[in-house]
Amino acid sequence: MKQSVLFTKTRKTAPKDEVAKNAQLLIRAGYVHKEMAGVYSYLPLGRRVLENIEKIVREEMNAVGGQELRMATLHPSQNWIQTGAWDAVDVVFKIKSRTEKEYTIGQSAEEIITPIAKEYIASYKDLPIALYQIGQKYRDELRAKSGIMRGREFSMKDMYSFHDSQEDFDRFYSQVKDAYLRVYERCGLAAKATEASGGSFTKKLSYEFMVLTDAGEDDILYCDSCSFCANVEVSTQKEGDTCTRCTKGTMKRAKASEVGNIFDLGQKYAKDFSLTYKDREGNEQYPIMGCFGIGISRLMGVIVEALADEKGIVWPKSVSPFHAHLVSLASGNSQVIAEADRLYQELREHGFEVLYDDRDVRAGEKFADAELIGIPTRLVISEKTIAAGGIEVSSRSGGDTTLVPESTIFEHLKKI
Ligand SMILES: [Zn+2]
Repeated sequence: MKQSVLFTKTRKTAPKDEVAKNAQLLIRAGYVHKEMAGVYSYLPLGRRVLENIEKIVREEMNAVGGQELRMATLHPSQNWIQTGAWDAVDVVFKIKSRTEKEYTIGQSAEEIITPIAKEYIASYKDLPIALYQIGQKYRDELRAKSGIMRGREFSMKDMYSFHDSQEDFDRFYSQVKDAYLRVYERCGLAAKATEASGGSFTKKLSYEFMVLTDAGEDDILYCDSCSFCANVEVSTQKEGDTCTRCTKGTMKRAKASEVGNIFDLGQKYAKDFSLTYKDREGNEQYPIMGCFGIGISRLMGVIVEALADEKGIVWPKSVSPFHAHLVSLASGNSQVIAEADRLYQELREHGFEVLYDDRDVRAGEKFADAELIGIPTRLVISEKTIAAGGIEVSSRSGGDTTLVPESTIFEHLKKI
């Protein structure tokens, strides 16, 4: 895409009331537009990043056997009254229709998936099954000051699984835990899983997935040798203690952000909605259910917080809106313009997605915008690079710059 026709422009400053670093940078670079506290629209650049994260999550959920569906967002109040959540969960939005009926817009979908599952699960042969969706969720937060990391409206992947035994649930639970860790790794983040008691009235046991970042809202303790990790609030250990799991490592304290969770729901929802199946002996049983969430928009915010530097956003290649940012420093030189146009065309023919800065503005402005927008690879064409017979390639994260001969540019880009 040519930057001269890109819908958004960069901005020098973020709105005064925006305190979160992730939203400040994303607004300035043109990824999101703030509608009100905790509610953002995703502009063309932001939508591309969300879709890249969704693609990674979708691939990993499909790999563990998840089947994707799309559930309703507007829920009848009756389903929520039936589970007790209508009164017990304070972040549920409640909407009164002019017909006097009440609804909620979903912050989670146990109240919808369980009645759906009841239509199709009849026998042990129908289990296990895992169903997931990626879509908008809503929470009536009192305060929303974390940018896109904790919103009143946000995008989430929520998966629900049904099992005929605790053993089968445990097997799937651990399989999804590994899939989650792969999702974060593919998004360029180092995540750890902490084991926690559920907290909410419906949940027995849970994993929280934490990314180490100074911007995090949580304090965690992690072992510097094994994968053990715990929330400071619940842990009996403290900083500097020897790890009780591996008995070798030392416990370190760090700030972290939650990027996902997994819950053992037990038989609660199956009982609430009388969802049963016939076991091998023909007896009616309640299935065991699990709930598996990843905040897609939250993950985007955490990536910004964890990887950005003083110049702007630094996207990992896997989620970047474009593979490369082509910057032409033409200053009216027709040869440079022609060379840059030709390279842009050829890159697209080779399957690269490129943001092409073809604008007639100063070099300093182009570089500052490229750093703010954060595409991992920058290509520069100028009189100087043409004279040297190559294209200047630099990495947004490392800053190292190399002159790559034009004949090997596609090979070079495929390698990195
Ligand atoms: Zn350890």
